[in-house]
Amino acid sequence: MPRPMKYRIVNGHPVTNVFKPAGIPQRQLEEVLLTLDELESLRLADLEGQYQEEAAKHMGISRQTFGNIVESARKKVADVLVNGKSLRIEGGYVDLSNLPFMCSDCHQKWNIPPGSPVSQNCPNCGSDRIHSV
Ligand SMILES: [Zn+2]
Repeated sequence: MPRPMKYRIVNGHPVTNVFKPAGIPQRQLEEVLLTLDELESLRLADLEGQYQEEAAKHMGISRQTFGNIVESARKKVADVLVNGKSLRIEGGYVDLSNLPFMCSDCHQKWNIPPGSPVSQNCPNCGSDRIHSV
């Protein structure tokens, strides 16, 4: 059984979720999976230049856990760049509670309470055409 993991706070979704070397069909490429929390760790540590202490607080996790996540993320990105693999960004234990969602069909807006699973459907009309705002 996988050990229970803490939800991690991630600010928003990446716009594009697959990166691949140009000119090579996807089926010939080995794919590396980067989770949303790993992406967020790279954003905080490498793009914003935050110290691990600060970045860990940002994501609601311990400094050591943050260190493990960012190390894993850097290894994956290096593997993709050095070995010419494709990179898919998805999944991971993330807390989207700081993101209000909106339904594309009925324009209902709502927030997801911390710790609850992310619903894929609008609570008002049941549409799956939802997006974060
Ligand atoms: Zn709706």
